Amino acid sequence: MTRTVYVNGEYLPENEAKISIFDRGFLMADGVYEVTSVIGGKLVDFEGHSKRLERSLAELDMANPVTMDELLEIHRALIAKNDLVEGGIYLQITRGAPADRDFAFPDPDTTPSSIVLFTQVKNLVNAPAASKGIKVISIDDLRWERRDIKTVQLLYPSMGKMMAAKAGADDAWMVQDGLVTEGTSNNAYIVKGGKIITRKLSNDILAGITRAAVLRLAKEAQMVVEERSFSIEEAQEADEAFVTSATTFVFPVVEIDGKAVGDGKVGSVASRLREIYIEESLRKAI
Ligand code: PLP
Repeated sequence: MTRTVYVNGEYLPENEAKISIFDRGFLMADGVYEVTSVIGGKLVDFEGHSKRLERSLAELDMANPVTMDELLEIHRALIAKNDLVEGGIYLQITRGAPADRDFAFPDPDTTPSSIVLFTQVKNLVNAPAASKGIKVISIDDLRWERRDIKTVQLLYPSMGKMMAAKAGADDAWMVQDGLVTEGTSNNAYIVKGGKIITRKLSNDILAGITRAAVLRLAKEAQMVVEERSFSIEEAQEADEAFVTSATTFVFPVVEIDGKAVGDGKVGSVASRLREIYIEESLRKAI
């Protein structure tokens, strides 16, 4: 099916949408993105994603070409035009396309930001990995040190996914100074003695929108949450492990570097969190 996508103010068939070769997203990875999931044709936590987008733009001194109301309208128009029931909407804003390649930022008055959005169909609620669990390997975290900004510099996370696939695993957890930062495209957690442990927010990791919702729901369900770092060895000895992100919700992690976590099966805490997250998302999606 030919998707209808959004590019700089226009809705176009995907094969007619064009971006300049001078676009700084293309030349310099000078851009930010968001992925908002869609279930039942509605957006999950649109407000959270749009607020984080504004923060990413502000941290990079990049102009936002649309208001938040316009952004919601574009998301909804794309859902309608593409009959999207379940999946996600990818949004990217870059520092635009100046007349030539240059390291210096272009003047935002003459070079407006570029904006692109498109839909992706994906099975979210009944994703097979939710009932099977995923296997992860550990790799060094070689990314830059502003991982709190959701930039399009995704080469290292892509390499991480390739290293995982080569090792027969599904994903990689990145490690810095002996401690897990996060997954290549998700936040990482372990469960020990009923306690949910996850690294605290800083420039070292992305402040996941799903992380915020899941930790809030865990606390509301009287679960204990401890925000601190952990090592791969501690994770291998944990009762459970899991990851969260907009497009996975909660996926149990059943193996780390070839070693089973707990009994090697999907854990009850991860399952329960996934269930209450989906239940709330279905209720609150807009
Ligand atoms: N950490 C990284 C590095 C990510 O790329 C992502 C999502 O893409 C996340 C965490 C999870 O964030 P969210 O829950 O907002 O999708």
